[in-house]
Amino acid sequence: MSMRAGPAGPCTPISRSALIARLKDRETWDVVVVGGGATGLGCALDAATRGYRVLLVEAHDFGKGTSSRATKLIHGGVRYLAQGNVPLVTEALLERSRLLKNAPGLVRPLRFVVPAYGWFDKPKFGLGLKLYDLLAGRHGIAPCRVLDPVETRAALPAVVQTGLRGGIAYWDAQFDDARLCVALMRAIHAHGGVAINYLPVEGLIQDDDRVAGVRVRDLESADIHEVSARVVINATGVWADRLRAFERPGVAPLLRPSQGVHVVVDAGFLPGSDALLVPQTPDGRVLFVIPWQGKVLIGTTDTARSDLPLEPAPLAGEIEFILETAGRYLTRRPTRADVRSVFAGLRPLIDADGRARTGKLSREHHIEVSRGGMVTITGGKWTTYRRMAEDCIDAAQRAAGIGRRPCITAELPILDGPLRDGAEGPEAQQTLCEALSLSEGDVVRAVRYELARSVEDVLARRHRALFLDARAAQAVAPTVARILARELGYDATWCEAQCRSFSALAAGYL
Ligand SMILES: Cc1cc2nc3c(=O)[nH]c(=O)nc-3n(C[C@H](O)[C@H](O)[C@H](O)COP(=O)(O)OP(=O)(O)OC[C@H]3O[C@@H](n4cnc5c(N)ncnc54)[C@H](O)[C@@H]3O)c2cc1C
Repeated sequence: MSMRAGPAGPCTPISRSALIARLKDRETWDVVVVGGGATGLGCALDAATRGYRVLLVEAHDFGKGTSSRATKLIHGGVRYLAQGNVPLVTEALLERSRLLKNAPGLVRPLRFVVPAYGWFDKPKFGLGLKLYDLLAGRHGIAPCRVLDPVETRAALPAVVQTGLRGGIAYWDAQFDDARLCVALMRAIHAHGGVAINYLPVEGLIQDDDRVAGVRVRDLESADIHEVSARVVINATGVWADRLRAFERPGVAPLLRPSQGVHVVVDAGFLPGSDALLVPQTPDGRVLFVIPWQGKVLIGTTDTARSDLPLEPAPLAGEIEFILETAGRYLTRRPTRADVRSVFAGLRPLIDADGRARTGKLSREHHIEVSRGGMVTITGGKWTTYRRMAEDCIDAAQRAAGIGRRPCITAELPILDGPLRDGAEGPEAQQTLCEALSLSEGDVVRAVRYELARSVEDVLARRHRALFLDARAAQAVAPTVARILARELGYDATWCEAQCRSFSALAAGYL
């Protein structure tokens, strides 16, 4: 876990009980944001930096929904270019360059290589990627380049060599999605806002027909709090239709979610630092094989899903599809036994006409202001979260009459993690488990500075152990539970319950 401090705010501890006490003050917040994924965190940071009094409430943990389950790319989206969505790609490429500049500790450039096997692959993909460069303009990372077979082999030594005619190299960017969530949460506090986890909205407060606040339950104490707001923002991702239905039961749904699955294997399946992109598999899909945090991510699928589980599990055949498709391009074919972790996420796709296949649905975002003045923002992608937030707070200003204040996030630095605690001795820096670079100090900092409340919060999102190696995460869970219990003042019974529930969760990633 990289730990950096910086001007996004003083590296002060964050106490959940002190934050909860703010709810009892009965103040009216300018903006209450519901949902602590990329979209909600972006909105709350945007509003806080415009000088509004902002509260964000998250039902579980920050990033627990879709925002920790992405392919980890900050990208224009080569696939959307192939669909002809030039405005979306251009906007995303601009946001990519902003994130690289504003969050250099969290987002880094990544080179992709597209292997060319067919006679026309090089001109076809080469032209498409040239256009990608043109759309990026001065925001480009580096120009794409046609590679001969020797250069392609050097870049992707693990790719099938038979029939390889060369390749095309191009640049995008990569990040740790859950860590960016945590960094945004800390930035919200640094700019005077409040963001609290384990605080689901269970109802809306309506004043005549106006949405005037939310009713939340504190999952740690079971207390209910009524929170007044001049404007409520619904940023609950694939669950947005549920909050809309709190206001208007029976309202027509906006979303048609689709599931994407990733499989994680050891780095040996794709040695080197370049990622592999297959823009069109024989059945017409896109396949990413990406080095990430010492492992390799392979994905993804695109399967419509109408139930909305918080922990979506792969559907029958999804893992096999990924392994089999990757096996067509990799010399060492991954099998079930090689899988270190499998994670699934639900894309919040907007379906305006209710007919399209999920692969064709728009990745653009959608903002709706309800009759009662609640602003729903959904759709979009991680890469464009900042722009989505800017548009949403602009809409909230218009809808709620909270004055006009300019957005300043285009230039706002976002920095990762708190300083190492000066009081930490050398033993706090020793790793807790050989397979994971996780120390006691990392766990302590996650609790004190990053609002981690459970073993899962630490091993799934403050550190990415669960996503990288679910078995190693299971093994280290009891040690993490003991450190958490000491920090949070819980007993052995709590530790045992935490270990049981984390072990059951990790089993679903295996
Ligand atoms: C498989 C996959 C791969 C992807 N890869 C990429 C990628 O590489 N790059 C990219 O740019 N984009 C990618 N995306 C898209 C991106 O991840 C999503 O667009 C983004 O994370 C959505 O964020 P969100 O905040 O809208 O939703 P979420 O992250 O789901 O956040 C919504 C939050 O609302 C909370 N919530 C729900 N109900 C309530 C309530 N009643 N009270 C309080 N809180 C509530 C939930 O707990 C949740 O945390 C990918 C998506 C998927 C599924």
